[in-house]
Amino acid sequence: MEHDTHDIDARRRHFLARSSAVSIGVLALPLAACGDGVVTDAQAAEKIDDIAGGNARYAIDTSIRSPNQDSRVRTLVMHYTAQSLAESIASLTDPQRQVSAHYLVPDAADAGAAFRVFELVPEPQRAWHAGVSYWQGDRMLNAGSIGIEIVNPGFPAADDALPVMSRRWVPYPDAQVAVFGALAADVIARHQIPPHKVVGHSDVAPGRKFDPGPLFPWQTLYERYRVGAWPDADALAYYRASRPYRGDVAELQSKLLAYGYDAPQTGVLDARTVDVVSAFQMHFRAARYDGMPDVETVAILDALLEKYFRRSRALNRQTMPGAASPAGGEKGSDEWPLQAPR
Ligand SMILES: [Zn+2]
Repeated sequence: MEHDTHDIDARRRHFLARSSAVSIGVLALPLAACGDGVVTDAQAAEKIDDIAGGNARYAIDTSIRSPNQDSRVRTLVMHYTAQSLAESIASLTDPQRQVSAHYLVPDAADAGAAFRVFELVPEPQRAWHAGVSYWQGDRMLNAGSIGIEIVNPGFPAADDALPVMSRRWVPYPDAQVAVFGALAADVIARHQIPPHKVVGHSDVAPGRKFDPGPLFPWQTLYERYRVGAWPDADALAYYRASRPYRGDVAELQSKLLAYGYDAPQTGVLDARTVDVVSAFQMHFRAARYDGMPDVETVAILDALLEKYFRRSRALNRQTMPGAASPAGGEKGSDEWPLQAPR
């Protein structure tokens, strides 16, 4: 952390030194060898000055702030790296790979020391962790999300061709859960991320991504750290008793879309729908995540819709034609400027 600050300060000093050199009129001083066709830094600076008109000087006044603002971060996405710590660091910092995350959580602490969580990308910057993705109306989630990568092998490479239920998933050690639970709680508090926008990579890219896997401790995170969404037991019992799934795939698809998934609305249990159901089950129902819908799956989904989207029990039992994305989107655009419509 200290080093980062010093580096930035050093760069800033360098920049300021160059800027002031330009403004006191040493533009003619060549900073690079001067030959035909070679533009020196000084000449380039002169050109920029011309474009700006030379006297467009201004200062930023920060004394007045508007309360009408919020964080650009809407979503928290959890991942596993499927690599060792050393390999993860190498991948997530390799310019060729073009992948990164805001945080990297190791699988163990340094001997006798605290867990060292790596901040690979500062939170105001965009990390490249989500790829092609969708959640609650947002596509390409990198722009508005924080990504946490957790060192965990996922499953052995030999299991790659097996159905997801047959893969030997590797559990997360308790000490590591405590670290990413606390970290996630901090991120959520800083950016006011609602529970239903704390998701796994598999939720936002079903079928393409399986991380953080079926052994990710979502229930523990909810109960111990208030991280993410989880259905209430009494609502779950109510919906379970009402047998909410009798083979109506269109209704299931509209509920999955209403919760946030990029669920097809085809009315048939096609491969993409199976992928979405499997992603939902991996998150909320780790006992069975083969993508086959059943009463338990839809009971959980109904309980979540009631809790986080205020869907009434009567509505949850009906189809929800063309279920819209959850409300609470963009503010401002319709309110300004204050002109009467013509
Ligand atoms: Zn991922």
